[in-house]
Amino acid sequence: MASTVTESKTAPAATIEVPHKGEAPPCVPWPIPPPNPALEVQYTRVFIDNEWVDAVAGDTFDDINPANESVIAKVAEGTKADVDKAVAAAKRAFQPGSPWRKMDASDRGVLLTKLADLVDANKHYLACLETLDSGKPYLHTFFMDTTGISKLLRYYAGWTDKIHGKTVPVDGDYLSYTLVQPMGVCGLILPWNMPLISLGMKIGPALCAGNTIVVKPDEQTPLTTLFIASLAKEAGFPVGVFNVVPGGPVAGAAIVDHHDVNKVSFTGSIEVGRKIQEASSKTNLKRLTLELSGNCPNIVFADADIDYAVEQSHQAVFMNQGQMCTAGARTFVHEDIYDEFVAKSVARAQKKIVTDPFQMFSEQGPQISKKHFDQIMEYVASGIEEGAKLECGGARQGEEGFYIQPTVFSNVKDEMRIAREEIFGPVQCIFKFKMIDEVIRRSNHTDYGLAAGIFTRDVGAALEMAKALESGTVWVNCYNAFAVQSPFGGMKMSGKGKEMGEESLWEFSEIKTVTLKLPQLQNISFSSNATKQYSAPVLPAKDDGMGKKTVNGSS
Ligand code: NAD
Repeated sequence: MASTVTESKTAPAATIEVPHKGEAPPCVPWPIPPPNPALEVQYTRVFIDNEWVDAVAGDTFDDINPANESVIAKVAEGTKADVDKAVAAAKRAFQPGSPWRKMDASDRGVLLTKLADLVDANKHYLACLETLDSGKPYLHTFFMDTTGISKLLRYYAGWTDKIHGKTVPVDGDYLSYTLVQPMGVCGLILPWNMPLISLGMKIGPALCAGNTIVVKPDEQTPLTTLFIASLAKEAGFPVGVFNVVPGGPVAGAAIVDHHDVNKVSFTGSIEVGRKIQEASSKTNLKRLTLELSGNCPNIVFADADIDYAVEQSHQAVFMNQGQMCTAGARTFVHEDIYDEFVAKSVARAQKKIVTDPFQMFSEQGPQISKKHFDQIMEYVASGIEEGAKLECGGARQGEEGFYIQPTVFSNVKDEMRIAREEIFGPVQCIFKFKMIDEVIRRSNHTDYGLAAGIFTRDVGAALEMAKALESGTVWVNCYNAFAVQSPFGGMKMSGKGKEMGEESLWEFSEIKTVTLKLPQLQNISFSSNATKQYSAPVLPAKDDGMGKKTVNGSS
Protein backbone atom coordinates (compact mmCIF):
# COMPACT_ATOMS: atom_id res chain seq x y z
CA MET A 1 0.00 0.00 0.00
CA ALA A 2 1.44 3.31 -1.04
CA SER A 3 0.77 5.21 2.15
CA THR A 4 2.80 2.75 4.20
CA VAL A 5 6.14 3.99 3.09
CA THR A 6 8.91 1.45 3.01
CA GLU A 7 12.22 2.99 3.80
CA SER A 8 15.24 0.83 3.26
CA LYS A 9 16.03 -1.53 6.10
CA THR A 10 19.68 -1.07 5.28
CA ALA A 11 19.51 2.69 5.72
CA PRO A 12 22.12 3.95 8.13
CA ALA A 13 20.65 5.51 11.26
CA ALA A 14 20.07 9.08 10.16
CA THR A 15 21.62 11.69 12.36
CA ILE A 16 21.14 15.41 12.60
CA GLU A 17 24.33 16.95 11.35
CA VAL A 18 25.80 19.80 13.35
CA PRO A 19 26.12 22.79 11.02
CA HIS A 20 29.69 23.63 10.26
CA LYS A 21 28.72 27.21 9.60
CA GLY A 22 25.69 29.21 10.67
CA GLU A 23 22.93 28.14 13.01
CA ALA A 24 19.54 26.50 12.67
CA PRO A 25 17.11 29.16 11.50
CA PRO A 26 15.08 30.29 14.55
CA CYS A 27 11.80 29.78 12.63
CA VAL A 28 12.37 26.02 12.26
CA PRO A 29 10.01 24.05 14.49
CA TRP A 30 11.84 21.19 16.20
CA PRO A 31 12.03 18.34 16.20
CA ILE A 32 11.63 17.42 12.56
CA PRO A 33 12.41 13.88 11.40
CA PRO A 34 16.02 13.57 10.28
CA PRO A 35 16.51 13.07 6.55
CA ASN A 36 17.00 9.55 5.21
CA PRO A 37 19.23 9.44 2.14
CA ALA A 38 18.90 5.64 1.80
CA LEU A 39 15.18 5.49 1.18
CA GLU A 40 13.74 2.92 -1.21
CA VAL A 41 12.42 4.14 -4.56
CA GLN A 42 9.10 2.40 -5.10
CA TYR A 43 7.66 3.58 -8.41
CA THR A 44 9.57 3.83 -11.68
CA ARG A 45 7.06 2.62 -14.30
CA VAL A 46 4.35 4.17 -16.44
CA PHE A 47 1.03 4.77 -14.63
CA ILE A 48 -2.11 4.28 -16.77
CA ASP A 49 -5.65 3.33 -15.70
CA ASN A 50 -4.42 3.13 -12.09
CA GLU A 51 -1.96 0.37 -13.02
CA TRP A 52 1.84 0.31 -13.21
CA VAL A 53 3.13 -0.90 -16.57
CA ASP A 54 6.43 -1.01 -18.44
CA ALA A 55 6.96 1.34 -21.35
CA VAL A 56 5.61 -0.17 -24.57
CA ALA A 57 9.10 -0.31 -26.09
CA GLY A 58 10.50 -1.69 -22.83
CA ASP A 59 13.12 1.06 -22.57
CA THR A 60 14.35 2.78 -19.44
CA PHE A 61 16.54 5.78 -18.70
CA ASP A 62 18.94 6.44 -15.83
CA ASP A 63 17.73 8.85 -13.19
CA ILE A 64 20.90 10.48 -11.82
CA ASN A 65 21.58 11.72 -8.28
CA PRO A 66 23.05 15.22 -8.79
CA ALA A 67 24.82 15.09 -5.42
CA ASN A 68 27.12 12.20 -6.36
CA GLU A 69 26.35 11.37 -10.02
CA SER A 70 25.21 7.81 -9.16
CA VAL A 71 22.16 6.18 -10.78
CA ILE A 72 19.21 6.36 -8.39
CA ALA A 73 16.88 4.24 -10.50
CA LYS A 74 16.13 3.05 -13.99
CA VAL A 75 12.85 4.69 -14.98
CA ALA A 76 10.51 3.60 -17.78
CA GLU A 77 11.06 5.75 -20.84
CA GLY A 78 7.70 6.62 -22.33
CA THR A 79 7.35 7.41 -26.02
CA LYS A 80 4.46 8.11 -28.40
CA ALA A 81 2.98 4.62 -27.90
CA ASP A 82 2.76 5.16 -24.14
CA VAL A 83 1.28 8.63 -24.57
CA ASP A 84 -1.34 7.16 -26.93
CA LYS A 85 -2.32 4.61 -24.28
CA ALA A 86 -2.42 7.21 -21.52
CA VAL A 87 -4.49 9.66 -23.58
CA ALA A 88 -6.93 6.87 -24.54
CA ALA A 89 -7.35 6.01 -20.85
CA ALA A 90 -7.89 9.67 -19.94
CA LYS A 91 -10.40 10.03 -22.78
CA ARG A 92 -12.38 6.98 -21.60
CA ALA A 93 -12.43 8.37 -18.08
CA PHE A 94 -13.85 11.61 -19.46
CA GLN A 95 -16.74 10.02 -21.39
CA PRO A 96 -20.22 11.23 -20.35
CA GLY A 97 -21.58 8.78 -17.80
CA SER A 98 -18.16 7.72 -16.51
CA PRO A 99 -17.69 7.62 -12.73
CA TRP A 100 -15.61 10.81 -12.91
CA ARG A 101 -18.15 12.72 -15.01
CA LYS A 102 -21.04 11.58 -12.82
CA MET A 103 -19.25 12.46 -9.61
CA ASP A 104 -20.66 15.38 -7.64
CA ALA A 105 -18.36 18.40 -7.73
CA SER A 106 -18.15 18.37 -3.94
CA ASP A 107 -16.91 14.76 -4.06
CA ARG A 108 -14.05 15.83 -6.34
CA GLY A 109 -13.14 18.14 -3.48
CA VAL A 110 -13.23 15.22 -1.05
CA LEU A 111 -10.80 13.29 -3.29
CA LEU A 112 -8.41 16.24 -3.55
CA THR A 113 -8.52 16.63 0.23
CA LYS A 114 -7.76 12.92 0.67
CA LEU A 115 -4.81 13.28 -1.68
CA ALA A 116 -3.53 16.24 0.38
CA ASP A 117 -3.95 14.17 3.57
CA LEU A 118 -1.87 11.38 2.01
CA VAL A 119 0.79 13.88 0.95
CA ASP A 120 0.98 15.10 4.56
CA ALA A 121 1.08 11.53 5.90
CA ASN A 122 4.02 10.79 3.58
CA LYS A 123 5.71 14.17 3.98
CA HIS A 124 9.02 12.82 5.27
CA TYR A 125 9.34 10.21 2.51
CA LEU A 126 8.34 12.71 -0.20
CA ALA A 127 10.78 15.34 1.08
CA CYS A 128 13.63 12.80 1.08
CA LEU A 129 12.67 11.54 -2.39
CA GLU A 130 12.63 15.09 -3.78
CA THR A 131 16.01 15.83 -2.19
CA LEU A 132 17.48 12.63 -3.63
CA ASP A 133 16.18 13.28 -7.13
CA SER A 134 16.65 17.06 -7.45
CA GLY A 135 19.49 17.95 -5.05
CA LYS A 136 17.33 20.44 -3.16
CA PRO A 137 18.26 20.79 0.52
CA TYR A 138 16.11 18.66 2.81
CA LEU A 139 14.90 21.60 4.90
CA HIS A 140 13.51 23.13 1.71
CA THR A 141 11.80 19.97 0.49
CA PHE A 142 10.39 19.37 3.96
CA PHE A 143 9.09 22.88 4.58
CA MET A 144 8.55 24.29 1.11
CA ASP A 145 7.94 21.67 -1.58
CA THR A 146 5.84 19.13 0.34
CA THR A 147 3.95 21.87 2.17
CA GLY A 148 3.45 23.68 -1.14
CA ILE A 149 1.77 20.79 -2.95
CA SER A 150 -0.38 19.99 0.06
CA LYS A 151 -1.59 23.60 0.27
CA LEU A 152 -2.29 23.70 -3.46
CA LEU A 153 -4.39 20.53 -3.30
CA ARG A 154 -6.36 21.80 -0.29
CA TYR A 155 -6.93 25.20 -1.90
CA TYR A 156 -8.38 23.65 -5.07
CA ALA A 157 -10.31 21.03 -3.06
CA GLY A 158 -12.30 23.97 -1.69
CA TRP A 159 -13.07 25.31 -5.16
CA THR A 160 -14.67 22.23 -6.78
CA ASP A 161 -18.27 23.19 -5.98
CA LYS A 162 -17.78 26.92 -6.33
CA ILE A 163 -17.01 27.05 -10.05
CA HIS A 164 -20.14 28.39 -11.65
CA GLY A 165 -21.39 30.48 -14.51
CA LYS A 166 -23.67 33.49 -14.71
CA THR A 167 -27.12 34.36 -15.88
CA VAL A 168 -26.70 37.03 -18.52
CA PRO A 169 -29.26 39.84 -18.98
CA VAL A 170 -29.38 39.55 -22.77
CA ASP A 171 -31.64 41.62 -25.03
CA GLY A 172 -34.97 40.11 -26.07
CA ASP A 173 -37.11 37.30 -24.70
CA TYR A 174 -34.34 34.92 -23.90
CA LEU A 175 -32.78 33.29 -20.90
CA SER A 176 -29.04 33.14 -21.36
CA TYR A 177 -26.62 31.58 -18.93
CA THR A 178 -23.08 30.23 -18.93
CA LEU A 179 -21.89 26.78 -17.93
CA VAL A 180 -18.31 26.35 -16.76
CA GLN A 181 -17.16 22.94 -17.91
CA PRO A 182 -13.93 20.92 -17.93
CA MET A 183 -11.85 20.89 -21.12
CA GLY A 184 -11.30 17.15 -21.32
CA VAL A 185 -7.90 15.47 -21.51
CA CYS A 186 -5.15 17.81 -20.29
CA GLY A 187 -1.41 17.25 -20.84
CA LEU A 188 0.72 18.55 -17.97
CA ILE A 189 4.43 18.88 -18.78
CA LEU A 190 6.70 19.58 -15.82
CA PRO A 191 10.14 21.12 -15.23
CA TRP A 192 12.89 19.72 -12.99
CA ASN A 193 13.49 22.69 -10.72
CA MET A 194 10.20 22.54 -8.81
CA PRO A 195 8.82 19.06 -9.49
CA LEU A 196 6.35 18.76 -6.60
CA ILE A 197 5.13 22.35 -6.49
CA SER A 198 4.80 22.56 -10.25
CA LEU A 199 2.82 19.30 -10.18
CA GLY A 200 0.50 20.74 -7.52
CA MET A 201 0.04 23.97 -9.51
CA LYS A 202 -1.23 21.89 -12.45
CA ILE A 203 -3.08 18.88 -11.02
CA GLY A 204 -4.87 21.00 -8.40
CA PRO A 205 -6.88 23.19 -10.80
CA ALA A 206 -7.03 20.57 -13.60
CA LEU A 207 -8.72 17.94 -11.39
CA CYS A 208 -10.73 20.54 -9.46
CA ALA A 209 -12.33 21.65 -12.73
CA GLY A 210 -13.18 18.02 -13.61
CA ASN A 211 -10.61 17.25 -16.31
CA THR A 212 -8.63 14.04 -16.76
CA ILE A 213 -4.84 14.26 -16.98
CA VAL A 214 -1.69 12.85 -18.51
CA VAL A 215 1.35 14.12 -16.61
CA LYS A 216 4.87 14.06 -18.00
CA PRO A 217 7.44 14.82 -15.33
CA ASP A 218 10.87 16.07 -16.35
CA GLU A 219 13.24 13.20 -17.14
CA GLN A 220 15.65 14.43 -14.46
CA THR A 221 13.12 14.42 -11.62
CA PRO A 222 10.33 11.88 -12.25
CA LEU A 223 10.20 10.17 -8.84
CA THR A 224 7.93 12.36 -6.72
CA THR A 225 5.34 12.64 -9.51
CA LEU A 226 5.22 8.84 -9.76
CA PHE A 227 4.82 8.55 -6.00
CA ILE A 228 1.98 11.12 -6.01
CA ALA A 229 0.26 9.00 -8.70
CA SER A 230 0.28 6.06 -6.28
CA LEU A 231 -1.32 8.32 -3.66
CA ALA A 232 -3.98 9.44 -6.15
CA LYS A 233 -4.95 5.80 -6.67
CA GLU A 234 -5.05 5.26 -2.92
CA ALA A 235 -7.18 8.39 -2.46
CA GLY A 236 -9.76 6.84 -4.81
CA PHE A 237 -9.49 8.77 -8.08
CA PRO A 238 -11.35 6.66 -10.66
CA VAL A 239 -9.48 4.62 -13.25
CA GLY A 240 -8.01 6.73 -16.07
CA VAL A 241 -8.37 10.13 -14.41
CA PHE A 242 -4.70 10.49 -13.36
CA ASN A 243 -2.04 9.06 -15.69
CA VAL A 244 1.74 9.57 -15.72
CA VAL A 245 4.14 8.93 -18.59
CA PRO A 246 7.77 9.44 -17.53
CA GLY A 247 10.18 10.21 -20.35
CA GLY A 248 11.90 13.03 -22.20
CA PRO A 249 11.14 15.41 -25.06
CA VAL A 250 9.76 12.58 -27.24
CA ALA A 251 6.98 11.86 -24.74
CA GLY A 252 6.40 15.60 -24.22
CA ALA A 253 6.10 16.22 -27.95
CA ALA A 254 3.72 13.26 -28.33
CA ILE A 255 1.37 14.87 -25.79
CA VAL A 256 1.52 18.19 -27.61
CA ASP A 257 0.89 16.51 -30.98
CA HIS A 258 -2.02 14.39 -29.77
CA HIS A 259 -5.36 15.35 -31.26
CA ASP A 260 -7.32 14.13 -28.24
CA VAL A 261 -5.45 16.36 -25.82
CA ASN A 262 -7.41 19.60 -25.58
CA LYS A 263 -5.15 21.51 -23.24
CA VAL A 264 -1.44 21.62 -22.46
CA SER A 265 -0.04 23.29 -19.37
CA PHE A 266 3.72 23.53 -19.67
CA THR A 267 6.48 24.87 -17.43
CA GLY A 268 10.00 25.13 -18.83
CA SER A 269 12.17 27.03 -21.25
CA ILE A 270 11.11 29.62 -23.81
CA GLU A 271 12.67 27.47 -26.51
CA VAL A 272 10.39 24.51 -25.76
CA GLY A 273 7.44 26.85 -25.10
CA ARG A 274 7.78 28.13 -28.65
CA LYS A 275 7.87 24.58 -30.04
CA ILE A 276 4.72 23.73 -28.10
CA GLN A 277 2.85 26.76 -29.41
CA GLU A 278 3.93 25.93 -32.95
CA ALA A 279 3.10 22.21 -32.71
CA SER A 280 -0.26 22.84 -31.13
CA SER A 281 -1.18 25.19 -33.96
CA LYS A 282 -0.55 22.33 -36.39
CA THR A 283 -2.88 19.91 -34.60
CA ASN A 284 -6.02 20.98 -32.80
CA LEU A 285 -5.13 24.51 -31.58
CA LYS A 286 -4.88 23.39 -27.98
CA ARG A 287 -5.53 25.73 -25.11
CA LEU A 288 -2.10 26.54 -23.71
CA THR A 289 -0.70 27.73 -20.43
CA LEU A 290 3.01 28.47 -20.77
CA GLU A 291 5.13 29.23 -17.69
CA LEU A 292 8.53 30.10 -19.14
CA SER A 293 11.88 31.62 -18.29
CA GLY A 294 12.73 34.85 -16.47
CA ASN A 295 15.62 37.22 -15.78
CA CYS A 296 14.06 39.24 -13.03
CA PRO A 297 15.07 42.68 -11.74
CA ASN A 298 15.32 43.25 -7.99
CA ILE A 299 15.66 46.96 -7.18
CA VAL A 300 17.11 48.24 -3.91
CA PHE A 301 16.76 51.94 -3.09
CA ALA A 302 19.06 53.91 -0.81
CA ASP A 303 16.37 54.25 1.90
CA ALA A 304 15.87 50.48 2.26
CA ASP A 305 16.84 48.64 5.44
CA ILE A 306 20.15 47.54 3.99
CA ASP A 307 20.77 44.37 6.03
CA TYR A 308 17.26 43.13 5.37
CA ALA A 309 17.55 43.99 1.66
CA VAL A 310 20.92 42.21 1.40
CA GLU A 311 19.50 39.01 2.92
CA GLN A 312 16.29 39.11 0.85
CA SER A 313 18.22 39.86 -2.33
CA HIS A 314 20.60 37.00 -1.54
CA GLN A 315 17.69 34.58 -1.10
CA ALA A 316 16.07 36.01 -4.25
CA VAL A 317 19.05 34.80 -6.27
CA PHE A 318 20.38 31.75 -4.45
CA MET A 319 17.21 29.95 -3.39
CA ASN A 320 16.98 26.50 -4.96
CA GLN A 321 20.62 26.68 -6.17
CA GLY A 322 19.62 29.72 -8.24
CA GLN A 323 17.40 27.45 -10.33
CA MET A 324 14.28 29.59 -10.02
CA CYS A 325 12.46 31.13 -12.96
CA THR A 326 11.75 34.04 -10.60
CA ALA A 327 15.36 34.40 -9.42
CA GLY A 328 16.10 38.07 -8.80
CA ALA A 329 19.31 37.63 -10.75
CA ARG A 330 19.58 41.28 -11.82
CA THR A 331 20.11 43.10 -8.53
CA PHE A 332 19.88 46.87 -9.16
CA VAL A 333 21.29 48.90 -6.24
CA HIS A 334 21.20 52.66 -5.80
CA GLU A 335 24.63 54.27 -6.14
CA ASP A 336 24.51 55.77 -2.61
CA ILE A 337 24.60 52.32 -0.99
CA TYR A 338 26.22 50.34 -3.80
CA ASP A 339 29.64 49.65 -2.24
CA GLU A 340 28.23 48.72 1.16
CA PHE A 341 25.57 46.51 -0.45
CA VAL A 342 28.15 44.67 -2.56
CA ALA A 343 30.44 44.10 0.43
CA LYS A 344 27.57 42.74 2.55
CA SER A 345 26.27 40.56 -0.29
CA VAL A 346 29.70 39.03 -0.78
CA ALA A 347 30.03 38.34 2.97
CA ARG A 348 26.60 36.67 2.93
CA ALA A 349 27.40 34.54 -0.13
CA GLN A 350 30.69 33.41 1.42
CA LYS A 351 28.82 32.23 4.55
CA LYS A 352 26.45 30.05 2.56
CA ILE A 353 26.47 26.37 3.51
CA VAL A 354 26.97 24.52 0.24
CA THR A 355 26.96 20.82 0.93
CA ASP A 356 25.14 17.49 0.61
CA PRO A 357 21.44 18.38 0.51
CA PHE A 358 20.73 15.60 3.01
CA GLN A 359 22.74 17.46 5.65
CA MET A 360 20.19 19.11 7.89
CA PHE A 361 21.65 22.62 7.55
CA SER A 362 22.56 22.52 3.87
CA GLU A 363 21.52 25.81 2.27
CA GLN A 364 22.62 24.98 -1.25
CA GLY A 365 22.88 21.60 -2.95
CA PRO A 366 24.21 20.61 -6.36
CA GLN A 367 22.96 21.90 -9.71
CA ILE A 368 20.65 19.46 -11.48
CA SER A 369 23.08 18.00 -14.05
CA LYS A 370 26.53 18.13 -15.57
CA LYS A 371 25.08 19.86 -18.63
CA HIS A 372 23.48 22.58 -16.54
CA PHE A 373 26.61 22.91 -14.37
CA ASP A 374 28.68 23.49 -17.53
CA GLN A 375 26.24 26.11 -18.84
CA ILE A 376 26.45 28.10 -15.60
CA MET A 377 30.25 27.93 -15.58
CA GLU A 378 30.21 29.20 -19.15
CA TYR A 379 28.16 32.22 -18.05
CA VAL A 380 30.62 32.88 -15.24
CA ALA A 381 33.51 32.78 -17.73
CA SER A 382 31.67 35.18 -20.06
CA GLY A 383 31.05 37.61 -17.17
CA ILE A 384 34.76 37.72 -16.37
CA GLU A 385 35.66 38.04 -20.04
CA GLU A 386 33.23 40.91 -20.60
CA GLY A 387 34.64 42.89 -17.69
CA ALA A 388 32.32 42.32 -14.73
CA LYS A 389 34.14 42.12 -11.40
CA LEU A 390 34.08 38.62 -9.87
CA GLU A 391 33.72 39.38 -6.15
CA CYS A 392 33.53 35.79 -4.92
CA GLY A 393 32.87 32.21 -6.04
CA GLY A 394 32.96 31.36 -9.71
CA ALA A 395 34.33 27.84 -9.28
CA ARG A 396 33.30 24.28 -8.69
CA GLN A 397 32.92 23.18 -5.07
CA GLY A 398 34.16 19.73 -4.06
CA GLU A 399 35.22 16.78 -6.18
CA GLU A 400 31.92 15.01 -6.90
CA GLY A 401 28.41 16.24 -7.59
CA PHE A 402 27.51 19.40 -9.46
CA TYR A 403 28.18 21.99 -6.73
CA ILE A 404 29.05 25.60 -7.59
CA GLN A 405 30.38 28.19 -5.15
CA PRO A 406 27.94 31.06 -4.56
CA THR A 407 29.09 33.67 -7.04
CA VAL A 408 28.74 37.47 -6.93
CA PHE A 409 29.59 39.87 -9.75
CA SER A 410 29.68 43.65 -9.31
CA ASN A 411 30.03 46.36 -11.98
CA VAL A 412 27.74 44.43 -14.27
CA LYS A 413 26.64 46.32 -17.40
CA ASP A 414 23.31 45.85 -19.17
CA GLU A 415 24.83 44.69 -22.44
CA MET A 416 26.83 41.79 -20.92
CA ARG A 417 25.60 38.25 -21.54
CA ILE A 418 25.18 37.60 -17.80
CA ALA A 419 22.84 40.60 -17.72
CA ARG A 420 20.81 39.74 -20.79
CA GLU A 421 20.31 35.98 -20.44
CA GLU A 422 18.84 33.72 -17.78
CA ILE A 423 21.72 32.02 -15.94
CA PHE A 424 19.50 29.80 -13.75
CA GLY A 425 22.30 29.24 -11.24
CA PRO A 426 23.86 30.62 -8.03
CA VAL A 427 25.19 33.81 -9.62
CA GLN A 428 24.23 37.29 -8.42
CA CYS A 429 24.82 40.21 -10.79
CA ILE A 430 24.82 43.59 -9.03
CA PHE A 431 24.14 46.69 -11.14
CA LYS A 432 24.39 50.36 -10.10
CA PHE A 433 21.59 52.88 -10.76
CA LYS A 434 20.92 56.50 -9.97
CA MET A 435 17.40 57.57 -11.04
CA ILE A 436 14.00 55.92 -10.69
CA ASP A 437 13.05 56.39 -14.37
CA GLU A 438 16.39 54.96 -15.40
CA VAL A 439 15.99 51.81 -13.31
CA ILE A 440 12.45 51.22 -14.57
CA ARG A 441 13.64 51.55 -18.16
CA ARG A 442 16.60 49.22 -17.61
CA SER A 443 14.47 46.67 -15.73
CA ASN A 444 11.99 46.54 -18.59
CA HIS A 445 14.64 46.40 -21.29
CA THR A 446 14.25 42.67 -21.84
CA ASP A 447 11.88 40.20 -23.47
CA TYR A 448 11.36 38.51 -20.10
CA GLY A 449 8.56 39.64 -17.81
CA LEU A 450 8.10 37.18 -14.99
CA ALA A 451 8.69 38.87 -11.63
CA ALA A 452 10.37 41.85 -9.98
CA GLY A 453 11.30 43.04 -6.49
CA ILE A 454 11.49 46.52 -4.95
CA PHE A 455 13.08 47.41 -1.61
CA THR A 456 12.31 50.88 -0.22
CA ARG A 457 10.63 52.58 2.72
CA ASP A 458 8.71 54.81 0.28
CA VAL A 459 5.67 52.65 -0.28
CA GLY A 460 3.98 55.25 -2.51
CA ALA A 461 6.93 55.18 -4.92
CA ALA A 462 7.00 51.38 -4.77
CA LEU A 463 3.33 51.15 -5.74
CA GLU A 464 3.85 53.51 -8.67
CA MET A 465 6.81 51.41 -9.79
CA ALA A 466 4.78 48.23 -9.42
CA LYS A 467 2.47 49.61 -12.13
CA ALA A 468 5.37 50.52 -14.42
CA LEU A 469 7.37 47.29 -14.22
CA GLU A 470 6.58 44.86 -17.04
CA SER A 471 6.34 41.67 -15.02
CA GLY A 472 3.56 39.32 -13.98
CA THR A 473 4.39 39.63 -10.28
CA VAL A 474 5.94 42.44 -8.25
CA TRP A 475 7.10 41.92 -4.66
CA VAL A 476 7.62 44.97 -2.45
CA ASN A 477 9.99 44.60 0.52
CA CYS A 478 9.92 40.83 0.07
CA TYR A 479 10.84 38.33 -2.64
CA ASN A 480 9.49 34.97 -3.80
CA ALA A 481 6.52 35.55 -1.50
CA PHE A 482 4.27 33.08 -3.32
CA ALA A 483 0.78 32.24 -2.11
CA VAL A 484 -1.54 29.60 -3.51
CA GLN A 485 -4.34 32.15 -3.42
CA SER A 486 -2.52 34.66 -5.68
CA PRO A 487 -2.18 34.13 -9.44
CA PHE A 488 1.31 33.73 -10.85
CA GLY A 489 2.43 33.91 -14.47
CA GLY A 490 4.57 35.82 -16.92
CA MET A 491 4.19 38.80 -19.22
CA LYS A 492 5.98 39.18 -22.56
CA MET A 493 8.02 36.07 -23.44
CA SER A 494 7.91 34.72 -19.89
CA GLY A 495 4.65 33.05 -20.72
CA LYS A 496 0.91 33.18 -21.02
CA GLY A 497 -1.83 32.29 -18.58
CA LYS A 498 -1.79 32.02 -14.82
CA GLU A 499 -1.14 29.35 -12.25
CA MET A 500 -2.53 29.37 -8.70
CA GLY A 501 -5.42 31.43 -7.45
CA GLU A 502 -8.91 31.41 -8.92
CA GLU A 503 -7.42 32.47 -12.28
CA SER A 504 -5.87 29.04 -12.81
CA LEU A 505 -9.33 27.44 -12.83
CA TRP A 506 -10.19 29.40 -15.96
CA GLU A 507 -7.09 27.93 -17.62
CA PHE A 508 -8.66 24.48 -17.25
CA SER A 509 -12.31 25.35 -17.98
CA GLU A 510 -14.43 26.06 -21.02
CA ILE A 511 -17.25 28.57 -20.78
CA LYS A 512 -20.34 27.49 -22.66
CA THR A 513 -23.26 29.82 -23.33
CA VAL A 514 -26.77 28.35 -23.25
CA THR A 515 -29.64 30.52 -24.52
CA LEU A 516 -33.36 29.64 -24.37
CA LYS A 517 -36.13 31.41 -26.24
CA LEU A 518 -38.80 32.40 -23.75
CA PRO A 519 -42.44 32.87 -24.58
CA GLN A 520 -43.49 36.50 -24.21
CA LEU A 521 -45.08 37.15 -20.89
CA GLN A 522 -48.27 38.70 -22.42
CA ASN A 523 -48.98 35.50 -24.33
CA ILE A 524 -48.81 33.22 -21.35
CA SER A 525 -52.01 32.09 -19.92
CA PHE A 526 -51.71 31.22 -16.25
CA SER A 527 -54.66 29.20 -15.20
CA SER A 528 -55.54 28.83 -11.61
CA ASN A 529 -58.45 26.59 -10.87
CA ALA A 530 -58.83 26.62 -14.65
CA THR A 531 -60.50 30.02 -14.56
CA LYS A 532 -58.13 32.98 -13.98
CA GLN A 533 -56.28 34.49 -16.92
CA TYR A 534 -53.07 36.44 -16.44
CA SER A 535 -52.37 39.46 -18.53
CA ALA A 536 -49.40 41.76 -18.14
CA PRO A 537 -50.24 45.10 -16.56
CA VAL A 538 -50.41 47.83 -19.15
CA LEU A 539 -48.50 50.95 -18.12
CA PRO A 540 -49.46 54.38 -19.38
CA ALA A 541 -47.67 55.33 -22.60
CA LYS A 542 -44.80 57.80 -22.13
CA ASP A 543 -42.71 59.89 -24.45
CA ASP A 544 -39.23 58.48 -24.97
CA GLY A 545 -37.86 61.94 -25.73
CA MET A 546 -37.51 61.20 -29.44
CA GLY A 547 -41.12 61.61 -30.35
CA LYS A 548 -42.04 57.93 -29.91
CA LYS A 549 -44.57 56.67 -27.43
CA THR A 550 -43.46 53.63 -25.49
CA VAL A 551 -45.37 51.20 -23.36
CA ASN A 552 -43.57 48.99 -20.80
CA GLY A 553 -40.28 50.27 -22.18
CA SER A 554 -40.83 49.01 -25.76
CA SER A 555 -41.79 51.17 -28.72
P1 NAD B 1 12.87 22.41 -20.87
O1 NAD B 1 11.99 23.39 -21.50
O2 NAD B 1 14.01 21.89 -21.61
O3 NAD B 1 12.06 21.12 -20.34
C1 NAD B 1 10.87 21.23 -19.59
C2 NAD B 1 9.96 20.04 -19.89
O4 NAD B 1 9.61 20.01 -21.26
C3 NAD B 1 10.58 18.67 -19.61
O5 NAD B 1 9.59 17.84 -19.04
C4 NAD B 1 10.99 18.18 -20.99
O6 NAD B 1 11.08 16.78 -21.10
C5 NAD B 1 9.85 18.72 -21.83
N1 NAD B 1 10.15 18.89 -23.26
C6 NAD B 1 11.34 19.10 -23.85
N2 NAD B 1 11.19 19.24 -25.18
C7 NAD B 1 9.86 19.14 -25.43
C8 NAD B 1 9.06 19.24 -26.61
N3 NAD B 1 9.59 19.46 -27.80
N4 NAD B 1 7.73 19.12 -26.49
C9 NAD B 1 7.17 18.92 -25.29
N5 NAD B 1 7.86 18.80 -24.14
C10 NAD B 1 9.20 18.92 -24.21
O7 NAD B 1 13.27 23.12 -19.51
P2 NAD B 1 14.66 23.32 -18.89
O8 NAD B 1 15.40 24.30 -19.71
O9 NAD B 1 15.30 22.02 -18.56
O10 NAD B 1 14.12 24.01 -17.53
C11 NAD B 1 14.47 25.22 -17.08
C12 NAD B 1 13.59 26.33 -17.63
O11 NAD B 1 12.29 26.26 -17.08
C13 NAD B 1 14.15 27.66 -17.21
O12 NAD B 1 14.23 28.50 -18.32
C14 NAD B 1 13.13 28.19 -16.22
O13 NAD B 1 13.07 29.59 -16.16
C15 NAD B 1 11.87 27.56 -16.67
N6 NAD B 1 10.91 27.51 -15.57
C16 NAD B 1 9.84 28.38 -15.57
C17 NAD B 1 8.93 28.39 -14.53
C18 NAD B 1 7.74 29.33 -14.51
O14 NAD B 1 6.83 29.12 -13.72
N7 NAD B 1 7.70 30.37 -15.34
C19 NAD B 1 9.09 27.50 -13.48
C20 NAD B 1 10.17 26.63 -13.51
C21 NAD B 1 11.07 26.64 -14.57
